[in-house]
Amino acid sequence: MRGFTVYPHVINRILFLISILDLLDIWYNKKNMTKEELWQAVLAQIQLGISQANFATWFKNTGVVSQEGNQVVVFVPNSFTKEWLENKYGKTIFKILHSLDEEVKEVKYTVGKTELKILKKAPTISLPEIGQLEFQEFKIDKETNLNPRYTFENFIVGPFNELPQAAGWAVSKNPGFVYNPLFIYGGVGLGKTHLLQAVGNEVIKNSSQKKVKYLPSEKFTAGVVSSIRSHEMEDFKAKYRAIDVLILDDVQFLAGKEKTQEEFFHTFNHLYEKNKQIILSSDRPPKAIPALSERLRSRFEGGMIADIGYPDYETRVAILKTKSQERKIDFPEEILNYIAVSIQRNIRELEGALNRLSAYQKLNNQAPNLETAKSLLKNLILSPAKLTTPKKIIQAVADFYDLKERDLISSSRKKEIVRPRQIAMYLLREDLKNSYPFIGRKLGGKDHTTAIHSYGKVSKELETSEALSDEISLIRQRIVSS
Ligand code: ADP
Ligand code: MG
Repeated sequence: MRGFTVYPHVINRILFLISILDLLDIWYNKKNMTKEELWQAVLAQIQLGISQANFATWFKNTGVVSQEGNQVVVFVPNSFTKEWLENKYGKTIFKILHSLDEEVKEVKYTVGKTELKILKKAPTISLPEIGQLEFQEFKIDKETNLNPRYTFENFIVGPFNELPQAAGWAVSKNPGFVYNPLFIYGGVGLGKTHLLQAVGNEVIKNSSQKKVKYLPSEKFTAGVVSSIRSHEMEDFKAKYRAIDVLILDDVQFLAGKEKTQEEFFHTFNHLYEKNKQIILSSDRPPKAIPALSERLRSRFEGGMIADIGYPDYETRVAILKTKSQERKIDFPEEILNYIAVSIQRNIRELEGALNRLSAYQKLNNQAPNLETAKSLLKNLILSPAKLTTPKKIIQAVADFYDLKERDLISSSRKKEIVRPRQIAMYLLREDLKNSYPFIGRKLGGKDHTTAIHSYGKVSKELETSEALSDEISLIRQRIVSS
C-alpha cells in the first residue's frame, strides 16, 4: 500500500526538478539570445494568446532593430501597425520582453523596413503580401466554388465575431468531429460568407484531397429543381453524398421550398452519419426561419450555433485600417474615424466607403480631406444623430429610471438597480446585437452569463407584459433623440 502512496509524490518531485531545470535553461538561453531570437520568443508567446488572423494582421513584418541597454526598438511596417501595437499590445509585449530580459525597461516602435524573415517559426501564417490583394486576380475554383480571397488571415476578429471565428477555425482543423453542423448567423455584410469560405479554403490548404463544396442555398434549390426535371435525381444525390465538407450559405432561402428541404434533409443525414462536416449560414437563428420543416430545424440546432453581431468601434477602425493598407492608401485618421462612426452595421459598406475614397484618390492623386470625404460618402452614411451607441443606451436607461450611469455599472444587487441594468443589457443585445461578453464588460465587468440571463428574462417578460413593452419603447425614443 505504502508504495502506491509514495509513487505520485516521487513523480511530483521529479517534475518539479525538471521544471527548475527548464527555468535554468531558459534563463541561460535568454542571456545569450540574439535580438532576432528575442523577438521570435516574444512572437511565440503572443501567438498563444491571440487569434491567428489578428496575429497575422498585426505582427507580420515586425522585428527588433536594436537592443541597447534597457531600450528595445521594434520596427513595424507602417504607422497603422505602430499605433495598434503601442495601444493594444504594448503592455503585453513589454511584459514578455521584460520577462525574457529583465534589463529591458522600455520598448519603442519605429516604422521601417527589414530583411529579417521573422515569421519563419510560425509556418502556419501565410498572409498575402499587403497591397497585393486588390490587384491579385481571384479565380473561383470550379470544383469547390470557393473564392481564394476569403481566408482566415484576412478575416479580422473582434468581440463581435470571435466565437464564430474560433468555431470555424476549430472545424477547419478537424472537419466532421468538433461542431457538426456549424451554424453561423448574422445580418447582411457582416462576414458570414467570408467566414464560411475561409473554413473551406483552410480545409483544402490542410489536406488537398478533401472534397469541399460551397454553395448558396438558392443554387442547391436550382440543382434540385433541374435534376427533378431531367430525371437525374440519382446523380444529384450521389454528387452531394461524396462530399467531405458541405457549405450551404444563406439557408433562410430554403424557407417554403419543401422538396429542396426534403432532399437536403436526406443529404444532411447521410453526410452526418459518415462524420462529414456540414456548415450553414443564415441571416437569423434556425428557430426564426419561417416555413422550415421541424426535422430540418432540429438538425440545424443539433451542433454549434454562433452569431456574428455588429462590430464595435475599435474593430471598425481596425478593419478600415487594414483594408486601406491592402489598398496601399494612407487615409488621414480623421477620415477613418468619421467612417467608423458613421457606418456601424455592415462591413461591406465600410469597404464600399473606402473604395469610393480610393477611387477619388487615384483620380486626383491625393487623399481627400474630411470635407470632401463627407460629401463623397453622403448617400452611404446615415445621419449620425439617428445612430445608436452602447453609451447612448446606457445613458438613456439611467436617465429614464432616474439613476446615475455609475449605478448601472456598479455591482449593487438592489432591485431598483438590477432591473434597469437588465433592461440596458436587453437593449444592447436587441438593438445593437452586441455580444454577451461585450455587454457584460460594458455594464461594469459582469459575467457574460449575467447578460444572457438578463436578455432572456426581459425577452420572456415582454411576451406577456404590455407595460414593459411601453416602458422599453419610451426608452428607445430617448435613445434616438439623445
Ligand atoms: P455576409 O455574407 O454576412 O453578407 P460577407 O462575408 O459577404 O457578408 O462580407 C462582406 C464584405 O465584408 C466582404 O468583402 C468581406 O470580405 C468583408 N468582411 C466581413 N467581415 C470581415 C472581417 N471580419 N474581416 C475582414 N473583412 C470582412
Ligand atoms: Mg453572404
